[in-house]
Amino acid sequence: MQLPGLIIGGGIAGLTAALALRQRDLAAIVCEAAPQILPLGAGIWMAPNAMQVFGRLGLADRIDAGGVPLQAIEIVDGQMRPILRTDQGRIRAQFGHGTTAIRRATLQSLLLAEVGPAHVQLGKVCTALAEDAAGVTATFADGSAVRAAFVVAADGLRSPIRAQLFPGVRPAGTGHLVWRGMSAVQLTPHFKRAIREAWAGGLRFGFSEIEDGVVDWFAAVPGRFGGAREGLLARLQAAFAGFAYPVPAILAAATEAAIIKNEVLDIAPLPRWHRGRVCLIGDAAHAATPYMGQGGCQAVEDAYALALSLSQNPHDPPAAFTALHRLRHARAGRIVRTSRLMGHVGYLDGPLGALRNAAMRAAPQWVSEQQFCSVYRLAY
Ligand SMILES: Cc1cc2nc3c(=O)[nH]c(=O)nc-3n(C[C@H](O)[C@H](O)[C@H](O)COP(=O)(O)OP(=O)(O)OC[C@H]3O[C@@H](n4cnc5c(N)ncnc54)[C@H](O)[C@@H]3O)c2cc1C
Repeated sequence: MQLPGLIIGGGIAGLTAALALRQRDLAAIVCEAAPQILPLGAGIWMAPNAMQVFGRLGLADRIDAGGVPLQAIEIVDGQMRPILRTDQGRIRAQFGHGTTAIRRATLQSLLLAEVGPAHVQLGKVCTALAEDAAGVTATFADGSAVRAAFVVAADGLRSPIRAQLFPGVRPAGTGHLVWRGMSAVQLTPHFKRAIREAWAGGLRFGFSEIEDGVVDWFAAVPGRFGGAREGLLARLQAAFAGFAYPVPAILAAATEAAIIKNEVLDIAPLPRWHRGRVCLIGDAAHAATPYMGQGGCQAVEDAYALALSLSQNPHDPPAAFTALHRLRHARAGRIVRTSRLMGHVGYLDGPLGALRNAAMRAAPQWVSEQQFCSVYRLAY
């Protein structure tokens, strides 16, 4: 009997991979380190490339229903004056899907329900993998072992499996921090159903409704702002005091203890994502900075391409993983590099910041939309 596949990590990459494999009749189980999938974390923006994949997996309508399908994405200055605008309605008409803002926990629950909880084992911390000619044996911190035909490591940015496969590859820091939160606040109609990201004074503040009356937000600050939690909300409010409505209102409604800190890191594109029967996907393979909102979307694309490659090479996982890398590495690498660049551009301040704003404002909207569309267009 053919051994099943094993997916390590039940995040967006791992659960989407399990779903995509199941839809192609490829058996796989997911082992996730966390004892429960908790309703923690902030929100996430699922862009049209990920939503097209979810459409093919039959989940897009439920994601739209569980989140907020957006009508616009805008980069604005500190006074909320547009610098760049995309009309998500037009993009939706082109790709069949727009961008949807959703709570991470809601997305995880939808994926988990679709995969089937029977196929997901929680509280399983993978500690080692050993490969032989017929398969891979994964051992877990609880002393158990699982035998599999192949292993997909969807274990995130700090992937322990990547460390085992490719020692020496480490996430690279950018010197910036992102603080994320959700605030119960009713925005005026102009600010509903849109992502706005405000760039001013070397700071960035992004926000969108994640459900009616709940706003998901991030505040990106240079490392010198400090990572201490003490007095955090007051420091954020002081730093963003010059930003126009609704930024102060959103921060005023924030709960300090629930604010999440993220160091901004990425991983330089790897020349390969697999060794033998073990393959990295998602952040484990190519984590990007959050500035394009594409890390999770790229993980979703990986998951779909993985299932496609394995269905074409069902008895030869290494060949499937080579095919996956061929399908995905150039695009994923481009996102990592562009996202890093967007990070630098967004933090420009003073005359350089003014020059950036003028140049971006001068570009016709269709030109900016074309750039977004090149990210949203799937290659397979
Ligand atoms: C501030 C911020 C904002 C972002 N916003 C967006 C956005 O709007 N849109 C977007 O697309 N992306 C966004 N991203 C990126 C996105 O969060 C990641 O790209 C995405 O979560 C990666 O998913 P993943 O499944 O690869 O990894 P993860 O979500 O990190 O999941 C990895 C899973 O593996 C498990 N695991 C780890 N080690 C083990 C082990 N040894 N054994 C078993 N399980 C293990 C972990 O518990 C975890 O559940 C953002 C990132 C940040 C930091």
